[in-house]
Amino acid sequence: MEKTFLNIIKVGGAVVEDSTSLDALLDAFALLPGRKVLVHGGGRAATQIASQMGIESTMIEGRRVTDSDMLRVVTMVYGGLVNKNIVASLQARGINALGLTGADLGYMLSEKRPVGKVDYGFVGDVKKTDASALAKLIDDNIVPVLAPLTHDGQGHLLNTNADTIAAEAAKALAQLFDVTLTFCFEKKGVLLDADDEESVVPILRRNDFEGYVAQGIISGGMIPKIDNAFQAIRSGVKRVIITRADNMQGGTQIIE
Ligand code: ADP
Repeated sequence: MEKTFLNIIKVGGAVVEDSTSLDALLDAFALLPGRKVLVHGGGRAATQIASQMGIESTMIEGRRVTDSDMLRVVTMVYGGLVNKNIVASLQARGINALGLTGADLGYMLSEKRPVGKVDYGFVGDVKKTDASALAKLIDDNIVPVLAPLTHDGQGHLLNTNADTIAAEAAKALAQLFDVTLTFCFEKKGVLLDADDEESVVPILRRNDFEGYVAQGIISGGMIPKIDNAFQAIRSGVKRVIITRADNMQGGTQIIE
């Protein structure tokens, strides 16, 4: 039997932070026909609110260290403020959105990352995704809005990278749906030249990716994003695109 088409859109931190970009993304998302899921990052709101509470943020290689105070902040900000504002904005656009962390319906189980060279604190690596819990909602025309938080099954929430949540949800849902996963961020796609929005690489294969990383053309948060994209493709996700919200027909397509 042919699978139903499902769009999974991930919206990045910089877009979430900027209300004009976020509105444009939500307008485009609301217009997408058929079944859909939105996954959002956190942005700098957590850093700002933490600082208002007198809690300092520590970043190592661009990644947040989540100590117990920061876990409380990200739970409030990602699971509350950011998630619920997006849900309300989608409701205003006629979309029946439902905001979830990985603990809700127990849909995404993770394990606290073991302490290695760096101790990232309360960060969860995804172990298991319950696609059926999400599929029931999707089949009911409910639009899940996934916050970047998971749980360990022992009563603890964990901070989890939103690109990883998007890729893991896409992989699990690909068993049931014909999934297109789109990572939306503030640029038109993977660029050959960071200063030239027109230098989008239309198709990116693994060999090219490794070459671009070696040459420093692809760097920072873009590397784990593309790694997640390749994993998703290998696990049955039909199409993975990296693009800007107003460029959903364009951008970079990731091909194994
Ligand atoms: P998100 O906005 O989804 O949270 P990240 O900030 O983790 O994503 O990663 C996106 C960032 O990657 C971009 O803001 C950009 O600065 C950086 N980047 C590095 N190399 C490239 C590239 N070749 N093309 C586009 N962006 C790139």
